[in-house]
Amino acid sequence: MNKWEENIREVEPYVPGEQPQEKDVIKLNTNENPYPPSPKVFEAHRGMEIGRFALYPDPCATELVHALEDYYGLDRGQVFVGVGSDDVLSLAFLTFFNSGKPILFPDVTYSFYPVWAQVYRIPYECPPLDAHFRICPEDYQRENGGVVIANPNAPTSIGMPLDQLEEIIQTNQDVIVIVDEAYVDFGGDTALPLLDRYENLLIVRTYSKSRSLAGMRIGFAMGSKRLIQALTSVKESINSYTMTMESICLGTASLEDEGYFRSCLDKIITTRDRIKAELEKRGFICLDSLTNFLFVRHKERSGEHLFNELRKKKIFVRHFGGERIREYLRISIGTEEQMDRLLEALDEI
Ligand SMILES: *Cc1c(COP(=O)(O)O)cnc(C)c1O
Repeated sequence: MNKWEENIREVEPYVPGEQPQEKDVIKLNTNENPYPPSPKVFEAHRGMEIGRFALYPDPCATELVHALEDYYGLDRGQVFVGVGSDDVLSLAFLTFFNSGKPILFPDVTYSFYPVWAQVYRIPYECPPLDAHFRICPEDYQRENGGVVIANPNAPTSIGMPLDQLEEIIQTNQDVIVIVDEAYVDFGGDTALPLLDRYENLLIVRTYSKSRSLAGMRIGFAMGSKRLIQALTSVKESINSYTMTMESICLGTASLEDEGYFRSCLDKIITTRDRIKAELEKRGFICLDSLTNFLFVRHKERSGEHLFNELRKKKIFVRHFGGERIREYLRISIGTEEQMDRLLEALDEI
């Protein structure tokens, strides 16, 4: 080993779901939206002046930030945008978790949290979910350096009622509590009504799941002006121009079509509930989902077996190796046709 290698930051990176490049696969492994973005987004894209790409974009992404503040009924200075919510979450870890005390998040949750904690050298502890994969608010009443809760949680798909979430925030007013609401549009309880009461609450959202814009990389945080200001200062100390002109323009256009947004959500929720019942008929145990995916286990077949057999049939779902969840599959909700193909494939298997 070279001497200089001792000083390289060692990290074990997050492993995202596969992005197969063939065209004829059914992709139910990364919780993307199966429907295209709103026609308003197409229109806005056609109207973009490509000549302007010679210039840097607005470093504050003002148009998008103001549109989000208006959409959610917040004041100016309460929204921060980033390159997907992964960027926003990563910056939030860097900005807010500096006490040296362990931050807390559940043992089964978004597997990027431990990776950011490690890369930024933030100590962390993971209170276990209960036997039904529910978060126990009592576990978050010990001394800590911050709390991160995905609600609804991933990959379990389970939502936490707002009173329980508030209990966690209320008992943690000396630290920042991050609530990752990547899936909340599919039926979860949002923590937005709590923003007025808790200055230490940061809500993080993404365009990648409910808004059909994973490819544009847009995420945002909502919180008190103090928190947004702190995030902005750290971001401006790393990279001024993160949001491209395209993401600012198309992210804004997406908010102008509430009808289309709601109709896509309704379709996905209807399909989710139908497929849950169909899977249960076939011997699967499905957790109660408030997301655009189902977290399921078969009574007789192993998670790994089903994952591999589906893969052979070019149907990609997600399988995690973690001890408590290795018998489970996480299946994103696709179109009705895609989900029918999934059922057929499972019947063949
Ligand atoms: C998908 C996801 C994200 C990240 O989404 P981006 O595409 O980076 O916006 C964050 N948190 C959870 C729980 C997710 O499932």
